Amino acid sequence: MRVAVGILGGTFDPIHRGHLEAAASVADQLGLSTILLVPTGDPWQKTTHASREDRLAMTSLAAAESDVFTVSRVDIDRPGPTYTLDTLRDLREQYSEAELFFIVGADALAGLPSWRSPELLAEMATFVGVTRPGERFIDPDIAGLQVVRVDVPAVDVSSTQIRSRVAEGEPIDDLVPESVADYISSHRLYRESE
Ligand code: ATP
Ligand code: MG
Repeated sequence: MRVAVGILGGTFDPIHRGHLEAAASVADQLGLSTILLVPTGDPWQKTTHASREDRLAMTSLAAAESDVFTVSRVDIDRPGPTYTLDTLRDLREQYSEAELFFIVGADALAGLPSWRSPELLAEMATFVGVTRPGERFIDPDIAGLQVVRVDVPAVDVSSTQIRSRVAEGEPIDDLVPESVADYISSHRLYRESE
């Protein structure tokens, strides 16, 4: 039997319940044995607020919540900006026996045509588009792209919202795992407003 592995990449600045619920629900609905959580190195389309190592540490704490999650360092360890093309190349090499499912939220899916070499990406994995509150689900027009739509429980949270709540001194306990909230507070992350 072929192993089916899901991949959720993100800046995870910080990782939150929306990421975890979406990934766990996809694993459940598509019968994936593993979800790789892949924090980006330097994202090329946005800036980050916490360091690579802090984002990786928070992702590892969150991953401890379920056996289905594994953290991958492929993007963190590659110097320079992160392109999904490199992520998928590296993971296809590491998981050469597996069928790969690349998970994106509806907002990220709509932006896919602006990524580097979308037609090549389409050949390298099956894309799984997950619903996200406030985002319309659009299947982008990219040659060869197969998108499996998965409706996941609506968790209306973003990392941006969490960062601004921390900067305002508001609680985030319902939005991230307790271990992540503790890490943010003990490392004094996100205290400055953006
Ligand atoms: P930011 O506000 O900094 O952009 P974010 O919450 O959008 O952060 P990202 O790290 O940008 O998180 O997202 C990584 C991936 O997870 C993207 O594909 C995104 O669409 C998806 N995602 C993030 N939050 C949710 C959510 N609440 N529900 C479903 N998918 C989500
Ligand atoms: Mg985002």
